[in-house]
Amino acid sequence: MKPEEINAAIERATEILVAARSVVALTGAGISVSSGIPAFRGAQGLWERYDPDEYAHIDAFRAAPEKVWGMLGEMYAVIAGAAPSLAHRALAQLEAAGRLRGIITANVDGLHQAAGSRRVIEYHGSFRQLVCLNCGRYYDIAACVLPPAGIPRCESCATVLKPKVVFFGEAIPSVAQQDAVTAAATADAMLVIGTSAVVHPISDLPALTARGGGTVIEVNLVPTALSRRVARISIFAPADEVLSEITRRLMA
Ligand SMILES: [Zn+2]
Repeated sequence: MKPEEINAAIERATEILVAARSVVALTGAGISVSSGIPAFRGAQGLWERYDPDEYAHIDAFRAAPEKVWGMLGEMYAVIAGAAPSLAHRALAQLEAAGRLRGIITANVDGLHQAAGSRRVIEYHGSFRQLVCLNCGRYYDIAACVLPPAGIPRCESCATVLKPKVVFFGEAIPSVAQQDAVTAAATADAMLVIGTSAVVHPISDLPALTARGGGTVIEVNLVPTALSRRVARISIFAPADEVLSEITRRLMA
């Protein structure tokens, strides 16, 4: 996209967002890359070194949790060292100004909350909490022993703890699913940021907004399955730049 095309698309997006009564954002891995978290599927991604079938499936975790924690420990070290991006901060500002009803995120890094966003639906769960699959007890990850120091275990029953993230083979938590569907279906506008929205069932959400008469605005680096179909406006540029600019204009 040429700079003047990006500018024109931002202008159109801003007009829609000004007029909209209910705006939601749907965010994915792309919004956290400049925070220091490489996309898991990308060249530097974890799935280049760890086979997802062996490490990201719930059956793999149940069978060999200590082994899977080798990968999880590495993943959490990256997440713990990350800071919110300009795009995370822009969304928090929009919410505080009453311009954004909430965020649905595929990310488990907690960076929206770290930026100050309050209404966040964590569609794939959160890495900030651990859960005991045996007795159901929850733990704040900051209070747990992690690799390389050790493997986190339940204080009540000594079972190896699992991050409260949705593994392959696990269902989306029903509350998150219902909240996300309601938010998407009733939104006048949805900002899709940093996700190609191809992984089912999160991929259904932009179409829900469009079907309800809402406008889908996509901010991605490259064209996706949403472009020219579900998205009425596609802005192919870095999320940090686009969101900062949209926020600047909306607050003016
Ligand atoms: Zn337990």
